[in-house]
This record gives sequence, structure tokens and C-alpha cells, in this order.
Amino acid sequence: MGGGQLGLMMIEAAHKMGFSVTVFAESRLCPAFKICDDFIESTFTDLDALSKFRKQCDVFTVETENIPFSVLEYLAEKKTVCPNAEAIRVTQNRINEKKFANSLTIPTVPFIEITTENISNIDSCFFPGILKTARFGYDGKGQAHIAEKNQLLRTAKDLANSQYILEKKVPLDTELSIIIVRDKDGNIASYPLAENRHENGILAESVMPANVSVEVHKLAFTYGEKIAKQLDYVGVLTVEFFLSDGSLLLNEMAPRPHNSGHQTINASVTSQFEQQARICAGLPLGDTTLKYDVRLENILGDLWFSNNNIEPCEPNWEELTGGVKILKLYGKNEPRVGRKMGHLITLVRKR
Ligand code: ADP
Ligand code: MG
Repeated sequence: MGGGQLGLMMIEAAHKMGFSVTVFAESRLCPAFKICDDFIESTFTDLDALSKFRKQCDVFTVETENIPFSVLEYLAEKKTVCPNAEAIRVTQNRINEKKFANSLTIPTVPFIEITTENISNIDSCFFPGILKTARFGYDGKGQAHIAEKNQLLRTAKDLANSQYILEKKVPLDTELSIIIVRDKDGNIASYPLAENRHENGILAESVMPANVSVEVHKLAFTYGEKIAKQLDYVGVLTVEFFLSDGSLLLNEMAPRPHNSGHQTINASVTSQFEQQARICAGLPLGDTTLKYDVRLENILGDLWFSNNNIEPCEPNWEELTGGVKILKLYGKNEPRVGRKMGHLITLVRKR
């Protein structure tokens, strides 16, 4: 479900292994459309389309967490959904996600749900903060920096229609993410921790392995393992962390392969996308060994407008790759500012 670049790369991996893939997405103007075996263009409220989809596939997975829970439950009545519907539900909402982490004694930034009742009376410990929509945010969208209480009142106007979380803004030593893989028999492994640099809330660069202490690497895996076990998770799970004043804090989770794991296509024995296909098919996990220290740089649509041009202009790929970097483009229909269009991979050093 979903037709974005994560779907595209999952299909590429599934095809290499001989599987065929049907994509269910709301528009055919998406990266996965061109290469999938079958495409159902429909809304997630169309029961006929969902019924056809459920009949024709053996196993279901998501490339975005934002698939309605009712759809996941409907599919799970008759077929395997991987990861399970409840695990996906937890990751759909920043408030649930953080409460869930805290319930497992995994620390997060201080946070509070903003409601009409409490909005005028928020403790000053949450400021300066970041106000976020609890659902549907990505790449820094749906977020506002809030210096003090009055600004909160002015910004969170849509409380009746949207759920909000206020998070304390914490200093970041660095940002990290771990990709955990768990199969149906409970075997678990992970890729090395990735270290991520964001610009304007969007991942700009990710290196694997992260340049942090062995203790931090171990703790990130311990947290990821705890989450995966608690959710009875089957599939690829990503956990994003902040390293803040030396403490590892859970930021968010994604029930799927992740942008910070695209390096695994080129640098690992088994990519995060192949893992997802393997796990869905009930095959054993692949080897997560990293063969190279590796760096990923995202390519945003901004690049097409880099000379203040109004009309998009094809970037100079030769210059960008320097003949060394590996270029992956997602085949999106049009470049837009802030839109992820592709990425570059540098194999830094053989391990
Ligand atoms: P998204 O779903 O858009 O990735 P995130 O919550 O991960 O949302 O926020 C995007 C980025 O904004 C983070 O990777 C981090 O750089 C910054 N950020 C978010 N929340 C905080 C916070 N509470 N304190 C400091 N920086 C934050
Ligand atoms: Mg994030």
C-alpha cells in the first residue's frame, strides 16, 4: 500500500527475487506505478477495490504508516499483513508513539498533548518547543517552532480538527536511526546505527555506521529490540533517535524501510528492501553485514531550481556524481522544492 519511492525500491527488491507486486495507491502519478505488476488506483474507502486487492494478493505491506487502521484490519481478517495492523497504528500518531516508548522505559523529549482545555495553561518547561500535528507529518511538515505561550495560542488554531503535540526543543548532539528486521519466527537483527543530518526538518545526509560510542550503538539496538518484541513486529522497523547532551531519546518510529537505510542497497549484503520482501514471503532474514562505510545524500527538487529559474532545469548529474557517487532517481512526475527526488551514495571505505 502506497506508491512512493519506498514502494518503488521494495518492488525492485521483490522483483529480483521473482515475486510480483500489486500496488494500491490513490494516484498513478507515483514512482511505483511504472514498475509494479498490477496497480489499483483507488481511495482507501472504496470497499470494492479493497476486496479485489485482498483477493488477489497473498501478503500485504505498507510503504507509508498512513494507511487507515480499518483497512489494515480488513485485510488482516483474511490475509497476512506485515507488520501487523496494531504495530502500524502505534506509529501513526506521535503521541501514542511517545507514550508507548515511555511505557517501555525508553526516554523521549518532554511532550504534552495540546487540547482546548489545557492550551492556556501549559507549563513553561515545554518552551521553547516544537508544535507538531500528531498525525501525517513528514519531512518537517506540520511543525512550528514555538518560543513562548502566547505564540502557542496563536499557532494551534485548528484544535477542533487536528490533534497536536508540543515537544520541548532539545539540543541535538546528533541524530541517529536504527533499522531493525524481525521475521515471523522472532529472529531479530539490525543494520549498524545510521547518523543523520537534517536541513529544515528534511534528511539531508546519512552515514552508516554512526560515529558514536559502542554504548550508544548497543543501547539503540536494545531499545529497537524491546519495541519490536513488544509489538510482535514482523518486518522492517525504523527507530529515529536524538542524542541530546549524551542521552539517547526516541524521536519517532516508522513501520517500514527508511530513508536513512537506502545505503543498504549498495553497501550491505542484504538491503532493507530485500529484507522486507523476504520477511513478507516468510523467508529467513538476510545478512545485515555492512560491506562499506557509506554516505547517502538526498536529492531534493530544489536542485532543479538552483539558479533562481522559474521553470525546472535538469541538474548537472556529471558534476553531482563526480563520476564516483551512485545516483538513484525515483522517477517522480515533477520536481518541487522540498520534494525528495532521488539520492546519491558514496562508498567511503571497504570494511
Ligand atoms: P518528521 O516526521 O517530519 O521527520 P520529526 O519529529 O522527526 O518529524 O522532526 C524533523 C526534524 O526536526 C528532526 O529530525 C529534528 O532535526 C528536528 N526536531 C524535531 N523535534 C525536535 C525536538 N523536540 N527538539 C529538537 N529538534 C527537533
Ligand atoms: Mg523524523
